[in-house]
Amino acid sequence: MSRVDGTIRELSDAGVAGLTIAWADNNGIPRSRTVPIAALHDVARTGVGVTPLFAVFDSSDAITFAHPGLATPSGDVRLVPDHLRITRLAGQPALAWAPGTIVTAEGEPWPYDPRSALQRQVDALAEAGLTARAGYELEFGVYLDEGMAPAHHGPAYGPAALTEIDAFVGDVLHDFRANGLRIGQLHAEYGPAQVEVTLGAADPVTAADEQLLARQTLRAAARKHGLCLSFAPLPSQASAGNGWHLHTSLWRGERNLLAGGPEGPGTDGAAYVAGILRDLLAVAAVSAPSLGSTARLRPGFFAGAYAFWGVENREAPLRYVPGSALLGEDHANLELKTSDASGNPYLALAAVLAAGAAGVAEGLVPPPPVAEDPGTWSDAERAASGIVALPTTQAGQEEALLASSRVTAALGHDLLGAFLAVRRSDAAAAEGKDLDDVLSGLRWRY
Ligand code: GLU
Ligand code: MG
Repeated sequence: MSRVDGTIRELSDAGVAGLTIAWADNNGIPRSRTVPIAALHDVARTGVGVTPLFAVFDSSDAITFAHPGLATPSGDVRLVPDHLRITRLAGQPALAWAPGTIVTAEGEPWPYDPRSALQRQVDALAEAGLTARAGYELEFGVYLDEGMAPAHHGPAYGPAALTEIDAFVGDVLHDFRANGLRIGQLHAEYGPAQVEVTLGAADPVTAADEQLLARQTLRAAARKHGLCLSFAPLPSQASAGNGWHLHTSLWRGERNLLAGGPEGPGTDGAAYVAGILRDLLAVAAVSAPSLGSTARLRPGFFAGAYAFWGVENREAPLRYVPGSALLGEDHANLELKTSDASGNPYLALAAVLAAGAAGVAEGLVPPPPVAEDPGTWSDAERAASGIVALPTTQAGQEEALLASSRVTAALGHDLLGAFLAVRRSDAAAAEGKDLDDVLSGLRWRY
């Protein structure tokens, strides 16, 4: 019996009726198809048919035909589940879940597939003798209803806040474990209603897969308790921002190149930091690409509004987290704060790794780390240190993205074209609207 057939039998015996195959589109929005378990034998090989136009869905499900490669309603591609990653869903007992890769009808790589784009970066690292580890932190709002009545009232980081959503928290802890997700920690975050869950580090493709599975797991647990979750970067102007911070480390064999000391990483790790810093504006245009993302980028909110790096500096978009005698040197990693749920997790990681690996290949040296918040400095002080603000408009993000040959190459010509068409479609739809309206349109989308 093949491995797939073994899985089919196990799922059927456990009463699982369907497999949901999920991917994330260019807005970071999870999309899916569900197939009966009985069909899995074939689907695992041939996938299920989906329209290529998913690459040009915008954040409100409008389809833009502005990208020349996907300018007509014709065509079909195949969504193939990664059968090695099939997971029974504790919170949805009739279903199992798997991440999908999209291929052409001939089974060839489809240039718009984000999971393949990340795999290409992982392969490129391997050719250079490198591997990466990655892990996401997820901040989100928990509400009693779609009117945004907060399900907890703080205090920030308080255990009292969690008592208000105790049954939900219990299911999250239970279901994450049952679904094979490792929680580092869970806490009431800064704002009313806000909760954070951190995920354990994994290889990049697994980390992105797990970010999607975590969303599904959280949504099912919330639904069970009649709660509404907002993963949006900024659910409303009055809300705390939801960062989905992305931690990475780069390894040569058993050696974590990010290891160093309280001053910063060693030479190669510093070059990784320098590479990402050099391309930070372009990386952020992929990892925090929506109109909600740019609204979240407010100085002083720990969201990373200016381009700099620091050691354990929580205002820095690039926060170096050193190892220590207590934690071990291999704890060292680099946190990207300009990352949120509207960034496709595969593309965000592909952009980070492409930028960082280029830094290592070129032996870049970063500027000195900054311990303060440059948002409190004068323009002249920032200019003297070469620190610029991250773009807060779609046009500014597009310009920054196009200026980076490394990040654009990581996406590839076709995917880049579709990605930008989607961003422009979002911006055009928002023209003349209040920011409140734009944010409410994105609130429940991710
Ligand atoms: N909520 C902040 C953000 O928008 C991050 C707070 C923190 O550092 O955990 O990213
Ligand atoms: Mg946090």
